[in-house]
Amino acid sequence: MTPLINHWGDMPPDEFRRHAYAVSDWIAEYLSRLERMNVLPDTQPGAVRALLPSSPPQNGEPVERILQDFERLIVPNLTQWNNPNFFAYFANTPSAIAILAEFLAAALNNNAMVWKSGQAATELESVVLRWIAEAVGLQQHTWGMIVDTASIATMHALACARECAGINARTEGLAGRSSAAVPRLRVYASELVHSSIDKACITLGLGTENLVKIPVNQQFQMNTEALQAAVQHDRQQGFLPIAVVGVIGTTSAGSSDPIVDIVEVCTRERLWLHIDAAWAGAAAMLEEWRDRFVGWEYADSVVINPHKWLFVPMDLSILYTRRPNILKQTFSLTPEYLKTREDSYGENLMDYGLQLGRRFRSLKLWFVVRYFGIDGIRARLREHIALAQLFAHLVDEHPDFELVAPVEFALVCFRYKPQGCTASESELARLNAELEERINTTREIFLVHTMLHGIYTLRFTVGNLHTTEAHVRKAFSTIATLAAEQKINTRLTPATTKCAI
Ligand code: PLP
Repeated sequence: MTPLINHWGDMPPDEFRRHAYAVSDWIAEYLSRLERMNVLPDTQPGAVRALLPSSPPQNGEPVERILQDFERLIVPNLTQWNNPNFFAYFANTPSAIAILAEFLAAALNNNAMVWKSGQAATELESVVLRWIAEAVGLQQHTWGMIVDTASIATMHALACARECAGINARTEGLAGRSSAAVPRLRVYASELVHSSIDKACITLGLGTENLVKIPVNQQFQMNTEALQAAVQHDRQQGFLPIAVVGVIGTTSAGSSDPIVDIVEVCTRERLWLHIDAAWAGAAAMLEEWRDRFVGWEYADSVVINPHKWLFVPMDLSILYTRRPNILKQTFSLTPEYLKTREDSYGENLMDYGLQLGRRFRSLKLWFVVRYFGIDGIRARLREHIALAQLFAHLVDEHPDFELVAPVEFALVCFRYKPQGCTASESELARLNAELEERINTTREIFLVHTMLHGIYTLRFTVGNLHTTEAHVRKAFSTIATLAAEQKINTRLTPATTKCAI
């Protein structure tokens, strides 16, 4: 007789139902009390680790106790990205509908590696990405794929550029080759490009030295004459230019590169053009912002992050390309166990990228588009832009503050510069760094800084569905009050003299 094996399964359905109700109640309550929570916790590095046992439990624990610890140890020790007073990085929120979709996606646990392992997931992904492509005016980019982040999307785009260089990197690699040595492969982007492009160059073996940073003009846009000159200069040096990354909505300034001019250079020089519209891409749905996007339809690839500004929870980034065949040429590789009868007519998304396993991310985007509708999404994006403009107006009107860059989309770059203050740049930088620290130490609002043309700049972004005019006005009033206190504390001397800081 075969031995009887005990059944050690999962939580029984009735118990699951009970806890799922409790978790839904918790989420609803959490979303409604967000505003009363601090954006930033008062947590020191190592504090959470110290609260947790160093060894795992040997026996299972009741769900109630796990949830209590979640509420007691985890939630209070987290930066609350969903808080309407979060104005740092690129502020964002998951919509309630997308949270529901995540719950369902986790329950389904589908893995759309190949069509056969995720039929609806594979096909929904292509349909919903076509919807977004149509809404943002990228009809030519009928093919898209979801990855986790823009960093990964861009890495895939540059891998395609490397593939097109004709050096057989896929098979032979880049180093120690027996065939002819590979010249330096060069990628070009503005000096304001996101660090993910540098990381893609590191990952692909191109090297950060071969990411050529092109200067920007006063509007923080790439100087395309300098781009053309750099490409020509590199060719004369025997280097091999392979790609340009143009940005629509830079992280630091919100600025957009002159895409039409970049397209011209790329066409003339036969370079892969990748557009990083990770944050601002959603705003292409708005007619009044379309001018920033003119020409992007000619790009070989484009990245847009719905987890930044399309109301889905982390993570979801879209890589569009007009040349999916190149992605496939770069990445497809099918071990025997993944071969299926449907391979010749169903699309296997694993063929187009590095990862095999793929979360069912399109579900949350589908829910969002259906729940809000494209017009509803447009209305919310416009609201965020209007709130950013309101903040910019408050900055502009205040004698002790100034805008540091044109306000683009929903990002305001500003700094504290007391009226009549003639302090040096480094002194102003110290003053603003101190103000930033004081703002964030209130833990009631959160923002971060950047450097623009050597100026220490505070960034204020709006992207949260719960942020209202009242939050923006209160945020500015808190910032102005803290700055005024600082002015007294640092004994700023009268107008036209230096600030004694
Ligand atoms: N590109 C831009 C313009 C960004 O602002 C960011 C992040 O803020 C990224 C790329 C990287 O995004 P991800 O975190 O999805 O990799």
